[in-house]
Amino acid sequence: MRTRRTAAAALAVLALTAVAACGKDSKPAAAGISYEVKKDVSVSGSKTFDAAQKRGYLVVGAKADQPNLGFEDVASGTRTGFDIEIAKMVAADLGFAADKVKFKTIPSTNRETAISGGEVDYYVGTYTINDDRKKQVSFAGPYYVAGQDLLVAKDNTDITGPETIKGKKVCSATGSTSIARVKEYGGEPVAFDTYSQCVDKLLDKSVDALTTDDAILKGYAAQYPDKLKVVGKPFSQEPYGIGLNKDDKALRDAINNAIEAHEKNGDWKKAYDATLGKSGSDATAPQLARY
Ligand code: GLU
Repeated sequence: MRTRRTAAAALAVLALTAVAACGKDSKPAAAGISYEVKKDVSVSGSKTFDAAQKRGYLVVGAKADQPNLGFEDVASGTRTGFDIEIAKMVAADLGFAADKVKFKTIPSTNRETAISGGEVDYYVGTYTINDDRKKQVSFAGPYYVAGQDLLVAKDNTDITGPETIKGKKVCSATGSTSIARVKEYGGEPVAFDTYSQCVDKLLDKSVDALTTDDAILKGYAAQYPDKLKVVGKPFSQEPYGIGLNKDDKALRDAINNAIEAHEKNGDWKKAYDATLGKSGSDATAPQLARY
């Protein structure tokens, strides 16, 4: 009896700890928006699209630990966030309902190989469009523009912008545009696969700052409002694109058309307000950079 009660008490403590660890606002709500699914779609000349149609579902690469952008609730397997909504809007225009989109978590450093190796049909996950990456993959978009910023402890007063990170331990993700700039500004880079690992390091004070896009950092600051703050001086432009196979111009055009249509019909704004807008980022749908 005693053991049972002790076990039950231990379980209750565990459950409470789990809730506490999530923080007050840490479980981002599902946007609850549905997008009209197009019928009889064909994307002439796209091998990726043809294969997905034959398979009966899309495989979309995403992040899983970035609140209000790409986040997976591990217990339920539910994915939420602006990137997830963008992925679903595009899928709907390609003829795939939300339940026909299978998300696969891919960290920053594995994106190019996952896309070019055909592991995913397309990728939506805070993925900056740049010329270097264009050598390996193609991009539709941009559908949003973020800027690199810094996340520090709430009581930190000495890190006020990139020029103040000299000699400081600054955490970021391997293979990201963010980590490359730490060295440029004289910081000591600490690299992990994911940004949430950096959040843990910042919370236990083994690093001085976390640097990446403001849109991502605001999500973490909202999770730990009493412990962390965003410095708020963006020092780069990060246009977010949808990554896809380099040779698939037909799919790139179709995805660009989908983004444009959903910006025009108000879905973009609705999705934004239900997700990223909650982290306190401004809403700006940028001009598409078709090529
Ligand atoms: N947007 C930046 C990048 O694509 C940083 C965020 C990320 O790693 O996803 O490298």
